[in-house]
Amino acid sequence: FGGKDAETESETVVVEAGAFDPQLGKSNAVFIMLCRNEEVDGAVKSIREIEDRFNHEYHYPWVFLNEVEFTEEFKQRVSLVTYSKVEFGVIPRDHWYQPDWIDEDRASEARKHMEENNVIYGGSVSYRNMCRFNSGFFYRHELVQKYRFYWRVEPDVKYFCNIDYDPFVFMEEHNKTYSFTLTMLEYVQTIPTFWDTMSDFIQKNPQYVAKDNAMDFLSDDGGRTYSLCHFWSNFEIADMNLWRSEAYTKYFDHLEASGGFYYERWGDAIVHSVAAGLFQSKEQIHFFKDIGYQHDYFAHCPQGSRVLTSG
Ligand code: GDP
Ligand code: MN
Repeated sequence: FGGKDAETESETVVVEAGAFDPQLGKSNAVFIMLCRNEEVDGAVKSIREIEDRFNHEYHYPWVFLNEVEFTEEFKQRVSLVTYSKVEFGVIPRDHWYQPDWIDEDRASEARKHMEENNVIYGGSVSYRNMCRFNSGFFYRHELVQKYRFYWRVEPDVKYFCNIDYDPFVFMEEHNKTYSFTLTMLEYVQTIPTFWDTMSDFIQKNPQYVAKDNAMDFLSDDGGRTYSLCHFWSNFEIADMNLWRSEAYTKYFDHLEASGGFYYERWGDAIVHSVAAGLFQSKEQIHFFKDIGYQHDYFAHCPQGSRVLTSG
């Protein structure tokens, strides 16, 4: 696989600054990866998967976000495995760190309790920062503002099959705003008051709830309790106008004000899933059956005759 022209001199790799091929894809879209410097190996692997399976023909740009500056090594290595424009952003402080008004005693008590109960990432503050950022802030970053659609990519994910059409264009042409490849059940200990907090919001703001919504996916009893079902957000192709809408902005502010991102451990997957499921028609949510994808031990493997004939 060849990326940009590079000259190797002993250990130093020199990439011509600003050298990238023009975008060929027709959508106003971007790949977004939030990650840490030490995840560079996994980041490079994921970019290669996306480039090999899809983006080498489209050259959609990449934006990398981090709460600290990316290292020169990170920038160099990432730039070498794509033809596309790459940009590296630092996240503004108050988009990432625990707000001052959060009662730290209460938050640390909750972390301790979850850790004792072996809740995954239960004791982690940085995980909570990440979930809150992905819920309410990534789409406001200055490097991301100019784009409408995004495809979220994490380090160390796999794409099994060639993607022989443009999913961004598909979304736009079919009036889709949110998409998924995998669904999951949330750990109930991470969200004791989430559903009630959310329900309080929609009771006060019924105008935001679409008639033809996906409540049947989210609840088995007509909305009284949460089914714990959600779209797994480590893969997302979505329209940021959904997150930038008045409904979502007020919904996020309502969730944020309750402190649940820190007093509990609310994940961005449930925050996104509920909004995508309730604030718009369920027709606007798309299952990419034909995208072969793996994160950790969970995979979606496309089935059927078309798969055998596509690349
Ligand atoms: P999981 O998928 O729920 O197990 O969570 P991950 O550890 O994969 O984190 C989700 C995404 O956020 C990945 O893209 C990580 O690289 C990124 N991420 C997680 N924690 C941090 C952090 O503290 N800083 C930065 N910059 N990225 C993070
Ligand atoms: Mn992950």
